[in-house]
Amino acid sequence: MVCSVNPEAGRECELAAIGRDGEGRRAVVVGAGPAGLEAARVLALRGFETTLVEREGRLGGQLVLAERPPKKWRLGWLVDYYRNVLGDLGVGLRLGCEAAPELMDELSPSAVVWAAGSVPVLPASIPGLDLPCVLTAPDAIMADPALRDQRVCVVGSGMTGIECAEMLAEQGNEVGLYEMVDQIGPGIFFQNMIDIMGRLDKTSTKLFPGHRLVSVEDGRARFQKVDGSEVVAEFDCLVLSLGIKGVPVPEWLEGRGCELRVAGDALGIGRIQEAVRTGYDAARSIA
Ligand SMILES: Cc1cc2nc3c(=O)[nH]c(=O)nc-3n(C[C@H](O)[C@H](O)[C@H](O)COP(=O)(O)OP(=O)(O)OC[C@H]3O[C@@H](n4cnc5c(N)ncnc54)[C@H](O)[C@@H]3O)c2cc1C
Repeated sequence: MVCSVNPEAGRECELAAIGRDGEGRRAVVVGAGPAGLEAARVLALRGFETTLVEREGRLGGQLVLAERPPKKWRLGWLVDYYRNVLGDLGVGLRLGCEAAPELMDELSPSAVVWAAGSVPVLPASIPGLDLPCVLTAPDAIMADPALRDQRVCVVGSGMTGIECAEMLAEQGNEVGLYEMVDQIGPGIFFQNMIDIMGRLDKTSTKLFPGHRLVSVEDGRARFQKVDGSEVVAEFDCLVLSLGIKGVPVPEWLEGRGCELRVAGDALGIGRIQEAVRTGYDAARSIA
């Protein structure tokens, strides 16, 4: 049994109560996604003088994206919860602040948790991905003003790609969802699939399984089908959702002599449950 929000669920008998053994030592957590938020909570509970450093001007990391697609606004409650609890625990927040050597010199922590999340994968083998008409899924989800009345190709039908397609269709775009393998939503848990495909079917989204993106030119994308034939799709905007990769610990941080832990997507790509759990475990494992 696991829980996305409570990392102790199912492990109550294995885990000792959190002791107050931080003794005022300084700890820095990099990244305010669910992994970093949870790590900061546990470090503060342990009595570390904890600072949470976040590049963006807000808490939440990818949760800010995750709550945008239809029916998902309740994920924002998790960010509200952490905002309240970290405030109560006196965690120092450095928002709009990039983790850098000078900052670490200033904060001089004895322990650091690296929870810097992930970045979208953009395969170098596909020409044209640097064109302005190509967006990543996060760019499309956060677009301000929102994309409307456009022909949009969403490429990649993992959970993020499907949710992005649903959101773009609801915003009034003409959406095509393209997937390399011959099935939409490969690897997605069947219950989630039934739920989201039921909603997607009610939009005008067209599905193109078995279509591998091979190149992009201005307004035209070339796909290779399973039988080797080629298809060209015309679009105003192409949205890439081809997976994500963790942000590695920078070299300058490795050799600083402080206790270093890695959590969340930076440790291994997962979902909220893995991020919260690894954030918790990282913070507890610091000596
Ligand atoms: C559209 C979408 C929908 C999703 N829906 C779900 C869902 O329904 N259920 C689910 O379980 N999961 C969902 N996820 C996945 C979930 O959001 C992630 O698994 C989770 O947020 C990963 O947490 P994290 O803390 O490791 O990283 P992130 O949430 O990515 O947070 C990392 C943070 O680190 C910051 N950072 C990076 N580098 C630096 C630096 N050098 N200095 C300072 N700060 C830095 C970033 O700005 C970011 O805020 C969704 C994701 C997306 C994109």
